[in-house]
Amino acid sequence: MTEKMNNRAYQICLHCIMDTSDPNIVFDERGWCDYCNNFESTIQPNWHTDRTGENALELLACKIRQEGQGKDFDCIIGLSGGLDSSYAAYVVKEKMGLRPLLFHVDAGWNTDQAVGNIEKLVDGLGLDLYTEVINWEEMKDLQVAFLRSQIPDQDLPQDAAFFSALYRFAHKYKIKYVITGSNYSTECCREPEEWGGYLGIDTLLFKDIHSRFGKRPLGSFPLVDIIVSKGFYQKILGMKIAKPLNMVPFIKKNAEEELASRFGWQRFQHKHHESRFTRFYEDYWLPRKFGFQKRRAHFSSLIMTGQMKRDQALERISRPEMDEHFLRQEFEYVASKLDLSVAELQEIFDGKNKTYRDYRNKRWLIGLGTGVLRCLGMEKRFFR
Ligand SMILES: [Zn+2]
Repeated sequence: MTEKMNNRAYQICLHCIMDTSDPNIVFDERGWCDYCNNFESTIQPNWHTDRTGENALELLACKIRQEGQGKDFDCIIGLSGGLDSSYAAYVVKEKMGLRPLLFHVDAGWNTDQAVGNIEKLVDGLGLDLYTEVINWEEMKDLQVAFLRSQIPDQDLPQDAAFFSALYRFAHKYKIKYVITGSNYSTECCREPEEWGGYLGIDTLLFKDIHSRFGKRPLGSFPLVDIIVSKGFYQKILGMKIAKPLNMVPFIKKNAEEELASRFGWQRFQHKHHESRFTRFYEDYWLPRKFGFQKRRAHFSSLIMTGQMKRDQALERISRPEMDEHFLRQEFEYVASKLDLSVAELQEIFDGKNKTYRDYRNKRWLIGLGTGVLRCLGMEKRFFR
């Protein structure tokens, strides 16, 4: 395994399981990390799932309902089939009484389980679904270009497709409210940027990587730059992003059971397993090539929010989520799906690791915007 080791001595938080694989982590005198401290000081005091949250949810629902009068839909929800977006769809329809359009982007990597979950929710909630299918030849070309770029941020092409298509559709059809399943309960410990968590869709970075390693033009691939989505769509045109899961009790285990009993929805072994590529990327590519375990952040979020014991998390992370045989099969599947031979994918895997800093980007500008949001109190999670 390739561990990206920095010069500091190994240290792990005594409260969660974040450790020095995040090169910028800071520990206090208790041995607690800055994610835990940020949760205690900034997130927890501002996160209400009791009466206060209920009132805020009701107020939001009223506003969305009023502004959506006379329209076919009053809001839009990006649905992946995973827990967070599925539960958000359920809350929006059943608890907020809204008329959302469910919007799904098919980037070619859906697991059967994700597809099944989407179908069950659409039927069970009696809502309309719009599916945007990404041109597979373009998707494949972009993904292979990203793999060849050797940066850890290998989920950017899928993320870009999901969010860009959603924003573009909402903009085109003048749907003001975009609902997301983003939440503190399972995501309060955001993966550090070094672990392939680039801060947003940066078209400069995409274009540079694609111009060096891509083979065909991206004629139809949806690519909305973060400056356009946050600046133009949200600040100028007034598009609003709502996160209702932060206003209701959202306990992972209970939410899974609720969706299962009401709709026959099936739980996933782990977060992000709705996409076959993401599962492979997070369980194989990222830990083995770069030494980063996204599960470390996922489990830490659950520890901070009281949904998992630290011992359990340490035990789970001590071995891969999927077994070796399965991961080997997935390696072959991903290679053949991307029209690469197993040897070609292996060659990329064995190549020298790089970071986004090796390519043209406007990370400084995105950082500036994120810094402003944090100062204004609009972003409470840590972005480093
Ligand atoms: Zn911690």
